[in-house]
Amino acid sequence: MDIQILPILNDNYCYLLHDSVTGQVGVVDPGDADPVLDVLDAQGWRLNVIFNTHHHGDHVAGNQALKDRFGCPVIGPEADRSRIGTLDTGVAGGDTVRFGSETGAVLSIPGHTRHHIAFHFPDSRALFCGDTLFSLGCGRLFEGTAADMWQSMRALMPLPGDTRVYCGHEYTQSNARFAVTVDPDNAALRARVDEIAAQRARGEPTIPTTLDQERHTNPFLRADEPGVQTALGMDGADPVAVFAALRQRKDSF
Ligand code: ZN
Ligand code: FE
Repeated sequence: MDIQILPILNDNYCYLLHDSVTGQVGVVDPGDADPVLDVLDAQGWRLNVIFNTHHHGDHVAGNQALKDRFGCPVIGPEADRSRIGTLDTGVAGGDTVRFGSETGAVLSIPGHTRHHIAFHFPDSRALFCGDTLFSLGCGRLFEGTAADMWQSMRALMPLPGDTRVYCGHEYTQSNARFAVTVDPDNAALRARVDEIAAQRARGEPTIPTTLDQERHTNPFLRADEPGVQTALGMDGADPVAVFAALRQRKDSF
């Protein structure tokens, strides 16, 4: 599938999917319908399906207007049916979804919200992970514990390293400012910080990142790494405790 990045609202990304084999069109997390409709109209496309990663308004607020126009179904977390009034097809971790000629896996990744899910399309090497994993960061713990979120980070790690990570927000540069304070001797991180600054100066998104890149540079995936543990004065500590300390520091950074 082709994936188009649509910047919406303040710093959200929603993603327009186009399957070149079947011509199907989908969207992930339309927090605002207008920018999606603009692109669809410009391309002469009809929308076939809406995917939601979690119930927050900046990810679902455009559902109704898009459904009104195209009558397309909304696929999202079944356990949040009461909080996503526009939901049609509820799914949970372990389920699969079809889009165009591809099959996607639904992953349960709680922490930011209790029933947060991700969609992984292995054929396209694409992961849509909403507000759980960000480039160089992770989502705030609104409805889950550090243990939940660390487990969600670990659930994403077995995916292939070249998986492209399409997350819900452009938070990369501020995440980078924090990351260097807790992983100061990480050369890959420092190189990435420079690359990010250049991308943002050119007005480009820093997304997608890759899982491999995140493994090497994102402190929230590195709570079990000596470099991060030493920087926090937590050598040999339980990764959950290190992750919790990272999250706490970031909340007040
Ligand atoms: Zn959110
Ligand atoms: Fe969000």
